[in-house]
Amino acid sequence: MTGLNELYQDVILHHYKSPRNYGELPGHNRAADGHNPLCGDRIHLTARVEDGRIADLRFQGSGCAISTASASVMTEAVKGKTEDEIRALFQRFHDLVTGKPAGDGAELGKLEVFSGVSEFPVRVKCATLCWHTLQAALKNTHQTVSTE
Ligand code: ZN
Repeated sequence: MTGLNELYQDVILHHYKSPRNYGELPGHNRAADGHNPLCGDRIHLTARVEDGRIADLRFQGSGCAISTASASVMTEAVKGKTEDEIRALFQRFHDLVTGKPAGDGAELGKLEVFSGVSEFPVRVKCATLCWHTLQAALKNTHQTVSTE
C-alpha cells in the first residue's frame, strides 16, 4: 500500500503546485469565502449555477497543500453536478477523510487520493474547507456583483 500512498501524495502535490480552475469566475452567480483558523487556510469560491447544476466554478486563496489540492480536485469533481449530487459526494468524501467505512452511494473517483487524511484528524478541516465553502456558496441565492 506504500506505493499507492506515494501515488496519492504525488497527485496531491501536483494539484497543490498547479491547481485546476484557479481564479475568479467571470459572470458567477454564487460566491462564498471559507476560512480554517486552525491551519490558516483561506478560500474564495465563485460558481455559476444553471438549471440546478454547477455549470462552472473556480477558487482562489492561500492555504496548505491539502486545502489547495482538495479545492482543486473538488472543482473538477463537482462540475456539472446538481446540489443533491454534491451533498451526497461530500458525505462520502467526509466519511473517507474521517476514516468511516465506505457505504453505498456516490463514486469518489479522484477524491480517493485524500484517504490518507483520515490518519491526521487535524487535517480533516483542511480537506473539507472547500466543500463547506461550496455549500455556503450554493445557499447564497442573491446575485453576487460580477466583474464582467
Ligand atoms: Zn490546512
